[in-house]
Amino acid sequence: MKLIDLNRDGGIGANSLFIQLGDLNILVDCGLHPKRVGRAATPDLTPLRGVTLDLIIITHCHLDHIGSLPVVMREHPNTPVIMTLSSRMLIERMLHNSANVMLKQREDANIPDYPLFTHDEVDRIGKRLTGLPFGMAKHFRGAKDDVEITFHQAGHVAGAAGVEIHYKHRKIFFTGDVLFDAQRTLEGAKFPSGHFDTLITETTRGTTERPMGKERRNEVARLIQAINDTIQRGGSMLIPVFALGRMQELFAILHDARKFGRLVDCPIFAGGLGMDLADYFDEISRKTKHVNFNRQILKDLKVQPTARKINPGEDPKQNALYVVSSGMMVEKTPSYALASGLVGHARNMIAFIGYCDPDTPGGQLLAAHPGDDFLFSAVNVNQKIKAHVERFELSGHADREELVEFAVQTNARSVVLTHGDPAARAWFMAQLSEKMPNASVLDPVPLQTYQV
Ligand SMILES: [Zn+2]
Ligand SMILES: [Zn+2]
Repeated sequence: MKLIDLNRDGGIGANSLFIQLGDLNILVDCGLHPKRVGRAATPDLTPLRGVTLDLIIITHCHLDHIGSLPVVMREHPNTPVIMTLSSRMLIERMLHNSANVMLKQREDANIPDYPLFTHDEVDRIGKRLTGLPFGMAKHFRGAKDDVEITFHQAGHVAGAAGVEIHYKHRKIFFTGDVLFDAQRTLEGAKFPSGHFDTLITETTRGTTERPMGKERRNEVARLIQAINDTIQRGGSMLIPVFALGRMQELFAILHDARKFGRLVDCPIFAGGLGMDLADYFDEISRKTKHVNFNRQILKDLKVQPTARKINPGEDPKQNALYVVSSGMMVEKTPSYALASGLVGHARNMIAFIGYCDPDTPGGQLLAAHPGDDFLFSAVNVNQKIKAHVERFELSGHADREELVEFAVQTNARSVVLTHGDPAARAWFMAQLSEKMPNASVLDPVPLQTYQV
């Protein structure tokens, strides 16, 4: 198999892997870098020039996996795109939202490349997107070769898939983004066990050791307690989350806590996209058995949309809980603006529940110390950190040890590392080299061609 990582920055960035199996050219994901803007945020698609792409596979609907899909589809107008049935229900909503965000960024930040695609274009590509059920093997043919592709539940977020590909006698497996633990709203990954020749694995949590006692259930209890403490001392709590998946998961957790009288009464504010996606989750939940979410949850919790305009640097003093995107507190998002107002007051708390890239404001705030000055440069606000800043281990990604265990039992001849910071990949490289001495472990340099 020939492989080129098109994610020009490495790290997590704009996920996109180009593989060749026989005469079949396949692209897996086509994301948008969460921290870059304009054309630089897309994967480098130049290796695809002059290539007839036979198939595009989408693992799930987070923007770091789909944000440049309309761009590559424009350049390859006849290539079919496959994903799971749940992803098919979510993808157009996510791309339309992305078009909105880019239109706004074009104005606010003067980025002439934006939008990379229009609402019309998203509507037009719809007919080329196909949803397939989990567990159903499907054949795809090139000029002479063919492959068989099967999606497996990957946990992580509704619709997320691990991808099994058979080509002749070779078996290849992509983990995609994966969570083996069950969440409140979603079953955990159900990957096939046994041998694969090549494994392409995510490495997101390579630098995160799960401390003893920080199992998901304990962390949920600790989070609810932290919300109660914050509200009871008159403060407000900000939980930055991804709109897709984490926000609905958190609402379901809050709903359970409220039902059993464990959560204080307080106003709850949330971002628009996540509330909108709750309707989609409700629908997916009724159509598949993997997802368990009901839109009534938002009504019961009396969730209100956040104010259209948040004044940076100003504590809104609402004694409320804010569940808003972005999860990594990226500039120009509601979580960033709110944090700039909340962080300067000791009664408030900012709680991170998912992965934060160390280079994002969220990652930087987690690494800072109480009393440090923290600059919110995009809104020109400098604050002394007085609020509680805390992380709760409710990640949507598998623990690194579980991923190593999965890799070892595949007895793969080659393992390819993706979707992780350099340090995270280095941990996997060391562990897998030691535990799989007969395998070659590859941390691909972007845009180089490998034979694996
Ligand atoms: Zn993801
Ligand atoms: Zn991802």
